[in-house]
Amino acid sequence: MAIRNIVKEGDPILRKTSRPVFKFDEKLWTLLDDMKDTLDKAQGAGLAAVQVGVLRNVVIVDVDDGKGLMELINPKIIEKSKETITAVEGCLSFPGKWGAVKRPATVVVRAQNREGKWCLYKGEGLRARCFCHELDHLKGHVFTDYVLKMYSEEELNQLIEDNKRRELSIQSENSDQVEAFEKPNVLENNPENTEN
Ligand SMILES: [Zn+2]
Repeated sequence: MAIRNIVKEGDPILRKTSRPVFKFDEKLWTLLDDMKDTLDKAQGAGLAAVQVGVLRNVVIVDVDDGKGLMELINPKIIEKSKETITAVEGCLSFPGKWGAVKRPATVVVRAQNREGKWCLYKGEGLRARCFCHELDHLKGHVFTDYVLKMYSEEELNQLIEDNKRRELSIQSENSDQVEAFEKPNVLENNPENTEN
């Protein structure tokens, strides 16, 4: 197991389309193990193989909702809710950048596990957001392509303060509302492991 370098904004590989995985062998398992180590070190919630320079349809997602790490190989979104949530997200390949992105509230992903078995994965809220964000990476898309509004570090802090003041226990049924209650909030940053 090893920590791999995370590709950053501007690297052309982030715009390339990843290819399917056909061999569920040691090489894939090493990639998955290394991606987990890399994600843990970066304190992120999700990582796509392309972000460590490997153009394969592989993503891992580890949001803190008690369901643990999910390894998704050759994933496809097969269902998504009409209901959407707009929240601030970031990306390990775009350090210090934040943006409000509208995502489906719920998605169902069909993917293979590390043994090659097809499984269904349901995601709600942050996990749904994470699935969408990571699967976008496999198509060469990044969150800034869809962003409704970018936030600087200061603006994000202000938004969090405003939201907290407005209502801590907000249910966020209004999809126009931009969610951000914790810094750095959502994607690829686990709020529990960050300094604020
Ligand atoms: Zn990302």
